[in-house]
Amino acid sequence: MYLKSLEMQGFKSFPDKIKLDFGKGMTAVVGPNGSGKSNIADAVKWVLGEQSTKSLRGSKMEDVIFSGTGSRKAQGFAEVTLRLDNSDRSLDYDADEVAVTRRYFRSGDSEYKINGAAVRLKDINELFMDTGIGRDGYSMVSQGRIEEMVSAKSEDRREMFEEAAGISHYRYRRSDAIKRLDAAEENLLRLRDILTELESRVGPLKEQSEKAKIFLELSEKRKGLEIGLWLDQLEKSAAQIRDAANKYNVAKVRYDEICADLDKLIQQGETQSAEISGLDYKAEERRREVHDIEEKISAEQAASAVRENTIVHNEETIGRARRDMEAENTALADVERRIADCGSEVAALLEKAGTLKAEEDAVDAEIAALRDKDAAA
Ligand code: ATP
Repeated sequence: MYLKSLEMQGFKSFPDKIKLDFGKGMTAVVGPNGSGKSNIADAVKWVLGEQSTKSLRGSKMEDVIFSGTGSRKAQGFAEVTLRLDNSDRSLDYDADEVAVTRRYFRSGDSEYKINGAAVRLKDINELFMDTGIGRDGYSMVSQGRIEEMVSAKSEDRREMFEEAAGISHYRYRRSDAIKRLDAAEENLLRLRDILTELESRVGPLKEQSEKAKIFLELSEKRKGLEIGLWLDQLEKSAAQIRDAANKYNVAKVRYDEICADLDKLIQQGETQSAEISGLDYKAEERRREVHDIEEKISAEQAASAVRENTIVHNEETIGRARRDMEAENTALADVERRIADCGSEVAALLEKAGTLKAEEDAVDAEIAALRDKDAAA
């Protein structure tokens, strides 16, 4: 097993996604103070499940998320993926490569993954137990840690040696088993309490059991009596049913007769309905005829009113014509009188004209005589 690569995004001083490939040889990270070398070691510790913010050189877990600079705004989450070669199956995981991912959001939510599948922190701890790589492993020795180890209490040093010897796994299992044993003992205690409680109830329960037995015997007797009663009632009910069945048959015959009568009545009713419909149709026809006649009468009355009106109008016209005729007659008499007057005047004039003609003829004769005399001269 060896470390293949480390990917970081938004972790401490690495806002952008960055991948460090380690290869099989030895890798040294070199840089000036404060350039972020220790942040790389922190990322390895963190992705392996480190929970101590002190150990990650912060005051709270949110400090692992890139907090921004003058020219860059802060990130919303930090993510680190550690990739290990597992072709020798050093890790108890059936894959040639194991990628462990941890992601932490400012909201406090965190996710762990092994080869992309979501897991619990416990799973990651168990995966690296006894490999020396885990959270408490000796493979990560940070600044000042050697000094710390040398001056540490023998108890603390022992934990490190146990991890190195590969027995911390058993220690973990042991403490887990002890925890479960404690829980089982507590359950046992609770069961004993319940048993004592139940034992104290045995006496009264025995008494209740005797009463229950008597109750059951009495119930049995009662049941027998009730059955007898029911059988008796059953016989009576059967007789009542037979009686009811006879009555039913009689009623059925009567019912059939009534049904037949009803059918006849319905038939008659239907015939009468048909007749009524015919009569209704005829009545409707009559009504239509009466209506037509009434309409004609109305039309005649209207025409007669018009005619009466015309007569009145004509009478008025005749009256007016008569009056006009009388006036015309008067005018005619007047004209005739005037014609007669004119006739006398014409006769007088004609007489006068005759006289004048004779005079003219005489003058003409005198003129002709004179002309003849003149011509002869
Ligand atoms: P030294 O050799 O002095 O220990 P180093 O190279 O190991 O230094 P680190 O301590 O890893 O450097 O990195 C410190 C730098 O990381 C500081 O500049 C600090 O501002 C920066 N840093 C730490 N946490 C964050 C964060 N959450 N967001 C942004 N920058 C951070």
